[in-house]
Formats: sequence, C-alpha cells, structure tokens
Amino acid sequence: MRTFNNLPIKRKIIAIVLLTSMAAIMMVSLVFVVHEAITFRNDVRRELCALAEIIGNNTSAAIVFLDGKAAAETLAGLKAKPNILNAYIFTADNELFARYIAQSARKDFLKAAKTPSDGSNDGSKADYKEIIAGITAESQSFLEWEGILVAAKPVMLDGQKIGTVVIVSDISGLGRKLMAFLVTGLFAMVGALIAGHFISSKLQYLITEPLIYLSRKMKEISKEKDYSIRVQKKSTDETGLLIDGFNEMLSQIESRDDQLRRNQKYLAEEVVLRTADLTRANREMADTVEELKAAKEAAEAASLAKSQFLANMSHEIRTPMNGILGMIDLLLETVLTEKQRRFAETAHGSAEALLRILNDILDFSKIEAGKVKIEETAFDIRTVVADVTAIFADQARKKTIELAKSIDRDVPTACLGDLVRLRQVLTNLVSNAVKFTSCGKVIVRVRKFGEGDRVAALQFEVTDTGIGIAPAQVNAVFDAFSQADGSTTRKFGGTGLGLTISRQLIEMMGGAIGVESEPGKGSTFWFTLPFKPPPDHSSTARPALGTHRDDGVRDVRPRLPVPDCNVLLAEDNPVNQEVTRGMLENLGCTVTVASDGREACDALLKAWYDLVFMDCQMPEMDGYEATRAIRGYEMSGIGSAGENEACHQGGIRTRNARIPIIALTAHAMDGDRELCLAAGMDDYLSKPFRQDQLADILIRWAGGTPPGTPPPQMGPGQPTHAKNSDDCVERPALAGSAINRAILDDIRALQRPGPPDLLRRMIRVYLDDSEKKLQELRDGVRASQASLIRDVAHSLKSASATIGAVTLAALFKELEMMGRSQTLKGAPTLLGRIEQEYVMARAELEKEMPAR
Ligand code: ADP
Repeated sequence: MRTFNNLPIKRKIIAIVLLTSMAAIMMVSLVFVVHEAITFRNDVRRELCALAEIIGNNTSAAIVFLDGKAAAETLAGLKAKPNILNAYIFTADNELFARYIAQSARKDFLKAAKTPSDGSNDGSKADYKEIIAGITAESQSFLEWEGILVAAKPVMLDGQKIGTVVIVSDISGLGRKLMAFLVTGLFAMVGALIAGHFISSKLQYLITEPLIYLSRKMKEISKEKDYSIRVQKKSTDETGLLIDGFNEMLSQIESRDDQLRRNQKYLAEEVVLRTADLTRANREMADTVEELKAAKEAAEAASLAKSQFLANMSHEIRTPMNGILGMIDLLLETVLTEKQRRFAETAHGSAEALLRILNDILDFSKIEAGKVKIEETAFDIRTVVADVTAIFADQARKKTIELAKSIDRDVPTACLGDLVRLRQVLTNLVSNAVKFTSCGKVIVRVRKFGEGDRVAALQFEVTDTGIGIAPAQVNAVFDAFSQADGSTTRKFGGTGLGLTISRQLIEMMGGAIGVESEPGKGSTFWFTLPFKPPPDHSSTARPALGTHRDDGVRDVRPRLPVPDCNVLLAEDNPVNQEVTRGMLENLGCTVTVASDGREACDALLKAWYDLVFMDCQMPEMDGYEATRAIRGYEMSGIGSAGENEACHQGGIRTRNARIPIIALTAHAMDGDRELCLAAGMDDYLSKPFRQDQLADILIRWAGGTPPGTPPPQMGPGQPTHAKNSDDCVERPALAGSAINRAILDDIRALQRPGPPDLLRRMIRVYLDDSEKKLQELRDGVRASQASLIRDVAHSLKSASATIGAVTLAALFKELEMMGRSQTLKGAPTLLGRIEQEYVMARAELEKEMPAR
C-alpha cells in the first residue's frame, strides 16, 4: 500500500483502471460460467427425464409381457444420442430387464457401480439397486458421478410401478465447455487490460496535467519568489478549485508582502528618523557636554577671575585711596591756613569713609567667596573693647553722647579667638550705635554667658538710646544691602553691609547675633561667641598690632616719638619708592631704596639698617625670596645680621639678632600673611598704608616699644587707608587726554626743595623703561609667550598707572589678564591699541618735561 501511495498519480490512475477492469471481467466470467454450468446440467436432466419417460412408455408393454427383446430394441434407439452411455430397464423387483451399452461407452454403469474403478469401497458409489430403490413412482432420481449423470425414472402403468428406466449420460463436455469459457474470459480480460491501460494512459492527462501544471507553477513561483504570478484555471472541477485556492493563497502572500514591504519601508523610515533623532540627540548631548565643559571652564575661569578680581579690587581700589590719603597726610604735614587744614581734614575724613565702604564691600565679597578664614590668636577682651570704644570716643564727645563700657569681673582676661574679626564686628556695632544716637548714651557690655570645660561663652552687648528700629525692619537689618529705613542712607550714609558681614563673621566663629529695639527709644545689638583659653594662661595676651590704646580720642598721629631710623626700602616701582620714601623721610628716617630683592640683599651686606620694608612682588628677586635669603644669612652667622650686631649697639638690634623685615603688599587677600610669615617676615603692611601706620611700625620694630614688651605677633595691618600706586590706577584721565594730570600733581607734591626734579626723572625713567619693555612685549606676542606677556604687561601696567597713563595702564592690564589666562587670541589687536595709546601718552609726558 505504501508503494502504491508513493506512485505518481498517473500510475495510480492506470493501476486503478486496470484493477477495476480486471475485477469486472473476472466477475462477469464467473457469473457466466456458473450460469452456463447450471443451465447445461438442467438441460441434460430434462433431456434424460424426457428420454426415460419416452422409453418407459414405449417399454411398459414389453415389461408387462417380459419381452426383453422389444425392450432392448427400444433402448437401442438411444444410439442417436451420442452422449447416452448406458441405458437400463429394471423390473419392479429391480432386476435388470434390458440394457443398452453405447459403442463408445467407456464402461458399463452397472459394473462400474458395483466395482469402484479404484477398487475402494468408500460407499460414495452406490449400488445401482440402491439408486433404483430411491426412485419412487412419482419422482425420478439423478446421480452425478465421475463425469456421468445417472437419471432413473420409474415406469408406471395404471398407477403401478412396473419397472425403472435408468439412463447414464456423459456430461464431461460441461467441464470442457466451462474451461473454454474461462480461457475466453482470460483473453477478454487481457484485452480489456491492454485497452484499459491504453485508454487510462491517454485519459489520465485530464487529471494529472492540471496538477503537473500547478506543481510546475508552484516550483517556478517558489524559485522566482514572484507572488504576482497566477496559475491559469482550465476547469471548474476539484483541480480548478485547487488552483483557485492556490491563487487565493498567492494573493494573500502578495498582499502580506506588500504590507510587509510597506511596514519595512515605514520601519526603515522610522529607523532613519530615529537614527537622525538619535544622532541629533547625541550631537546635542555632545554639544551640551561641550557647553557644560565650556561653562565649567568658564565658571572656573570666572571663579579664578573673581579671586583675581578680589585681589585686584584690593589693589585697584586701595591704590587711588592710598594716593588720596597719603597726599592728604603729607599735605597736613605742611604749613596750611586754617581753612586749608579744614578742607584737607574733611577730605581725609571722606576718603577714610569711602575706604571703609570699600572695605565693607570687599569683606562681603570675600566672605561670599568663602575666602575668609577664622584665625586663632590670643588677646585680651578688655583691650579690644577699650580699643574699639577709643576709636569712637571723639565722635561721641562731639555728639555729646556718653560712650561707656562695662566688662564683668569674671570675663577672662586672656582669650583665644579671631581678634581681627571680633574687633571688626564690635567696631561696626559701636559705629552704628554712635551713628544712630543723637543724645543719651552708648554702652558696651561684656559678660560671661556660659562656661564649659575648655570654652567660655561671652556675650557682647552694644546698647544705645538712638532712633531704634521698627519691628517690621528688625529682622531685615542683617540682610545684605538692607537698611531699616530708606532715608537712612540719605541721612546717615552706609551700605547696609556692616550687619550682614557681622552676622556672617559671628556665625563663622560659632556664635549668634541679634537685636532688640524700640523705635525712638534705642537698640541693643548683642552677639555671643565661644572663646578658648590660650594655651599658656599665665602669659598675658599679647597686644594686637598697634591696637593698644587708652580710652579717649583716637589719635591718627603716632603717640610715641618715631626713632631716627636707617631704613631700607625694597620697592621696584619708582613712584611707590617716592611716596614711601616721602612718608618715611617725613617721619625722620634715612631711606635707602633697593629696586629688587637682590639689590636689597646686597645693600644689607654693605650697610647697617634698622628695618627693611620689603615689597613682595618685584622683578629679579621678589620679596619672599629676598627675605628667605636674608634669614639664611642670619642663620649662618654671616652677612648683614652678624655685621650689624657687631657694629650697631642701639635700637632693637641689641635685643634681636634678626633684622625686622616688614612686608609691603598690595594683595590684601588671605594667604598673603602666611606667605610672608613663611618667608620669614616679621610684620605686614597692606598697601595702601598711611604715614601713621608706617610710624606705628617704626615705633614697634625700630625702638619705640618699651623694652621688655614681647615682639608683636604678625597680623594683618590696621584697616588700610593709604594709597600706593604700585599698580594700575583706575582714575580716568580727562576726555581726550592720555595722562591723568592729578596723578602728575600728586607726584609733584612729593618733590622736596632742591633738584633733581622728581617728576622729570620719573618720566624719563618711565619712557626709557617702557620703550624696552614694549619691544619685549611685541616679541612675546609674536611668539605667543603667555608668561612673558603677563609679566611684562604687569610691569608696564604698574609703571603706566603710576605715571598717570591710566588708559594705557588699563590696556596693559587687559593684556596681562590675557597672558594670565593664556588666551592670546586678541593679543595682537590689543597690542595695536596699546601702541597707539602709548604714542599719545609719550607725547603728553614729553610735554611735561621741559616745563618742570
Ligand atoms: P549701614 O550702617 O552701613 O547702613 P549696617 O548693616 O551696619 O549698614 O546697618 C543696617 C541698618 O540697620 C542701618 O542702615 C540702620 O537702618 C539699622 N541699624 C543698625 N544699627 C542701628 C542702631 N544702633 N540703631 C538704629 N538702627 C540701626
């Protein structure tokens, strides 16, 4: 069956047709043979019966009359029937009466019946008597036996059986006949098979051809992958339906393909879009990262710029103030009319007020930038309070208000804390109290607020009977730039920063600040601070620089006589040299000027000096390096210290082998102090400084201090007021002029009687020096040497500002910044502007020279 299943349809169809035809023919042949056999037998039986009947009728008389002969003759008539082999007539007693044996008969039926031919006696061959006995009067009997048919019929007469006729017929022809039929049927079957094969071979195309066509098309489609092809239908039968189904399937595949293609296209477009989005997003992200990086760098640069700005602010703002205050100081030293003195003093007061405001703003920015650090020094609270109240005593007296202080007995004498900041806060509170009080009193109280193991908490109170503050404004007074009343600024001035700075400082020191106030009645500003005891309780707290004062009017002039000192001034800038020299000489000092650290060292090796004022930033060798070198000499016992010790017997040198070195720096930033200390300097004077500050330093370091007083610790100088033109001056020149005349006038004011002409000399020095440096600058810009540009521009900036070429100084400053930030893109253009401005400035300066 499996083999059949695997056959091609063509063969299957042929096989089915052939098998069907064969079965049909076989069936027909069988039916025919069986029918023939039955018909033949029946015909033979009918014939034999008829013959027996006839013979019986014809022989009944002979039987009755026992005429055997007549009976035999009747039987002999059977000769005409070739198929009759034997015929017998038996009497009623079944005795043989007559017989007929055909000539061609093979054997005698009676003999054969009695003696089976094979000798056996299996009973299947009955005795003829038994046959005859079985035949009744009405019936006849048949017996088939080895190709013979035996028929027995009784012979009746008047209803009486008188005998029996037995006829034996040969029926072996039936088998032959049937065989012939079978052979014929076989031939018919073979013929039919051949015909069937032929026909089915021809007709199977009707079925297989569409299928083959369909399968070929399927192969083609699957190979070409072309689903637009359609199979042509040639009939509406099952094959047609199959083709329809296949075509339908192709349509669906095609439409799915279309859909798929559309989806693919859509997907591809989506992918392109998304990729573009992604690329854009990536680009944006990269841009953002770049921007952020740039912003970060800008922020860092801005932070750096801010720090530099703060440093520069110190320079830039204090520098002109130094000029103003220094000159007024010098002016006040000269013979003046009463009116002129008043004017000068008013100008001095205004300049100091301005400097205070500037200091406030600077302080505020420094605190905001986190650049203020809280220091720890040992000091005496009582001294601090006395100092602060002393500052305002004069002002209070003028306003006829009482200024008092009250310090509880249990307040420790020696404390460890930030003296400068404490004094700053206290000064601000007392200053406000005096400022906002027109009658009554201002009291400063200090009491112990609490005490721990190692810490004493002190409460400071400044109570006044002044204008007070409205409840709504009470909380705002500590906010930056805020004043209780808008009219305050108009009436009392101020920036609104003092209390903000105070609060920030107090909080940084771990304390708290507050106010209680009633409008019209007065205010109490208080703050608390924790103080540690100094490491050595027994020692008296050392006084802060120049702060030890009694209550009373604050004297801006030195109270002690300034010793005649031999001072070495190490300062590179000619105008600074002149200003400081002017002040020192006014104080009675002999001044030697060194232009840089190396010259200073050389000078110290050659001569004796009581004190050195050392500018920190100088060419060749800066102040720090020079100080280190000097301290090195001193340690090794050679050089100035040893020589000085040997030849000088007076002043501090007999008590102190170290020569006092006082730093002069225009950088009022944190860290400077530490740098100076680390280099080995003893004290620190921040530019701008006043003549009286110089005097204080001389008193402290060159013999004014009573013997036995411990050397003062190094700390920042007093709030600085004086001017130093070390750096760029932001005092604009008049429109159309490259030089600020006021600065030239300042220089002229330093001129002492007798030649040489200071201004003339300075202009000459400046022009010679600047020509050289400008050439260096040109080379530096050409070679993009940022550090060279920075240094040379810095030097030119300073010199130009000093000589009054302020616009030029500003341009040099810009170039210096470029060098500092190493962004030299605009340097050539800027240099072009500098050259133009320089030509103008030089022309104006040269005009000044013949005149003086
Ligand atoms: P400034 O005094 O420079 O304006 P402050 O921060 O020191 O700035 O003070 C802020 C404001 O607080 C003052 O302008 C004033 O309105 C108010 N204030 C401060 N102290 C007193 C005081 N003792 N009495 C009345 N008002 C005061």
